[in-house]
Amino acid sequence: MFEDDGYAFDTLAVRAGQVRSGEGEHSEAMFLTSSYVFPSAAEAAARFSGESSGNVYSRYTNPTVRMFEDRMAALEGGEAAVATASGMAAILSLCMALLKSGDSVICSRSVFGTTTALFARYMKKFGVRVTFVDLTDMQQWRDALDGDTKLLFMETPSNPLCEVADIRQLADLAHSAGALLAVDNCFCTPALQRPLSLGADIVVHSATKYLDGQGRCVGGVAVGRRELMGELRAFLRTAGPSMSPFNAWVFLKGLETLSLRMQTHSRNALALAWWLDEQEAVEKVNYTGLPKHPGHLLAAEQQSAFGGMLSFSVRGGREAAWKVIDNCKILSCTANLGDAKTTIVHPATTTHGRLSEEERARAGISESLIRVSVGLEDVEDLQRDLLRGLSQL
Ligand SMILES: *Cc1c(COP(=O)(O)O)cnc(C)c1O
Repeated sequence: MFEDDGYAFDTLAVRAGQVRSGEGEHSEAMFLTSSYVFPSAAEAAARFSGESSGNVYSRYTNPTVRMFEDRMAALEGGEAAVATASGMAAILSLCMALLKSGDSVICSRSVFGTTTALFARYMKKFGVRVTFVDLTDMQQWRDALDGDTKLLFMETPSNPLCEVADIRQLADLAHSAGALLAVDNCFCTPALQRPLSLGADIVVHSATKYLDGQGRCVGGVAVGRRELMGELRAFLRTAGPSMSPFNAWVFLKGLETLSLRMQTHSRNALALAWWLDEQEAVEKVNYTGLPKHPGHLLAAEQQSAFGGMLSFSVRGGREAAWKVIDNCKILSCTANLGDAKTTIVHPATTTHGRLSEEERARAGISESLIRVSVGLEDVEDLQRDLLRGLSQL
C-alpha cells in the first residue's frame, strides 16, 4: 500500500492510491468482479451491516475503482473521492445527495450544456430552484443568493469562451450564506488548478476528458470532505451510477501522464493562440494565455498554466467557420475534448445547438466561432492544417 508522505503532485499522480495484491503486480490490478466472497457467514453479516468495511458488491466498492478514487483525492488535495459512470453522473450524484425540494442553486450560465439541462429541466422538476448568472459578474451571484441557497456551481475557465472566475471569491460568497461551492475542474485538471485549496467544497470532473487523455472511456469523479463524499457514496450505492473497474484502470493509467500531458497541451495551445491572433482571417482569439484576454491575470494567479482549450472567430460567419473545419486533415471534427488528438468543432451548430438563437447570443456563441481542444501533435502541423481553410477566407 502506497503511503503519502507529503509527496509532490507528480509523484502522487503516478503512485497514490495503489494497493498491491498478494501477487506483487507492479502495475495496478484490474478487479473485474461484480461481487466478493465472504470468509464466513458472520463476516458477511458484519459487512452488510456496515460493522466491517470489506467489499460486498462492485456497485458500492471495487479495489480498482478505489485506487482511482484515492489517487484523485490525493491530486485534488481532498479527503475523499467518489467515482461515477460519467461526468454527468458525478454532477447528478452531487445534486441527489446534497439537495432537496425547496433548496435553491446558483449556476453559472457558462457551464457544460448538459449540466445546464440537468439543473433547468430535472432539478427544477423535483422542486429545486435554479438561477443562472454570468460567470464573471459577482454582483449577479450576490443578488441571486437567498435563504434557501445550498449550492453554487461553476466551471473555470469556461467552455468555449475561456472566461475565468475567481474561485476564492465565490467560495467566500457561498460560505457567507451557508452554501457549498462546487467547481467542475474538467478543463484544468488538478495538474493546473486545485479549487479545494482556494476554498471550494467539492470538485467534479468528467474523467472522460483530460484524466483519460486519450479518448477511450467515459467516467466521472467528485472530490471533497469525507462527510460530503459519504453522502454521495450512499446515493451511488442506492441508485447505481458507479464506475466500471475497467474504466477506472484506464483512468489510473491516464493519471500517470497527466502532468506531462497538461504541460504540452498548454504549450501547444499558447503557441497556436499567438499564431491564430496574427492571421488575417481571424477576428478574435479566446485563450487565457494571451495577455489581452480579460481573465489572463486571474488565470495566471489561480492556474499553473493556461490549459489546452481555446476558441476563435473568423471573418464570414457560419460558412467561413465550416470551411476551416472541413479543410482540416489532422484536426478531428468531434465534440470530445481533452484528447491527445486535436479536435475542432462549431459550437453554434453542435455543442450549443440546442440553445435558442437569443440564448446563444447572450452566451456569446456566434456563428463564426470555432472551438479547438489542442492536442499533443506538432504545433506547426496543426497550423498548416488550419491555414488550408483560413487562407481561403
Ligand atoms: C464532458 C463534460 C461534462 C460531462 O461529462 P461526461 O463524462 O460526458 O458525462 C461535464 N463538464 C464538462 C466541463 C465537460 O466537458
